[in-house]
Amino acid sequence: MMQVTISELLRSGAADLAPHSESARLDAELLLGEILSRGRAQLAAHGEDPVEPQNVQAFRMMLARRREGMPVAYLTGRREFWSLGLRVTPQVLVPRPETETLVESALELLPRAHAARVLDLGTGSGAIALAIARERPLCAVVGTDLSPEALAVARENAAGLGIGNVAWRRGHWFDAVPSERFDAIVSNPPYVAADDPALAALQAEPREALTPGITGLEALAQIAAGARGHLLEGGFVALEHGADQAEAVAALLASHGFRLIRSLRDAAGRPRVALGFPETNFP
Ligand code: SAM
Ligand code: GLN
Repeated sequence: MMQVTISELLRSGAADLAPHSESARLDAELLLGEILSRGRAQLAAHGEDPVEPQNVQAFRMMLARRREGMPVAYLTGRREFWSLGLRVTPQVLVPRPETETLVESALELLPRAHAARVLDLGTGSGAIALAIARERPLCAVVGTDLSPEALAVARENAAGLGIGNVAWRRGHWFDAVPSERFDAIVSNPPYVAADDPALAALQAEPREALTPGITGLEALAQIAAGARGHLLEGGFVALEHGADQAEAVAALLASHGFRLIRSLRDAAGRPRVALGFPETNFP
């Protein structure tokens, strides 16, 4: 019996996903690569290899779920963030490339030789906390989340990557670290307004990770309010926000005694990170 080859499957898979995904070819490569335990380069190098019927069947089932809107990362259970191979489950947000802007801005302010204390609020898969911990081995990083399931994924990622300078705490924002202070507080909190039509395309992801309430600013406001009381002298806060929230977040930070506020843009040129320093360090 004639067997279908890797390159034929990738071609038909990409065509199948094209109406549903902007990255149809890449999606097909990641899905087939997962089934065959091969990287994308290996798939390209072995395009003429035949694929076993049960693997063809598994690929078709994944394509069907992808067409229904399931993110590739949930189908493969993996996502790259800051060159870290992270495990992800539907209990955590799929880490986004724009969040690397937040990591970059924090790293710029964290000297390599300084053993700083860093807090990542709402850590999800642990993406931000783990990227900073990997880049700054002397730092002590704390990642928090309200979701125990998310913290389990973050812990597993830390263990899998052999990153030991992160501790995990559960709780509502600063309740997880009631009496601790940090040199840096970073967060990518939920910030999508509850009636934002964009949520329709994000249905596979946890609602609590995406939307904090009606305006979308509720979590950012709570974090801005609590940040100053949890910063050490000379510390800073860096918050990711939606592309249309830069002014609102700057105003929130200013109203809680932060100065020298800078706005940073993501790779697409949209303002996505607000950076603030307390006017005086302690109230
Ligand atoms: N930091 C991860 C990232 O950038 O990929 C996940 C960010 S996701 C947008 C927001 C995270 O905040 C979710 O993991 C969610 O469970 C958590 N979260 C939501 N409300 C929270 C709260 N009140 N206190 C602590 N964490 C919360
Ligand atoms: N960046 C995500 C999106 O709009 C939202 C994540 C968040 O609310 N922090 O797809």
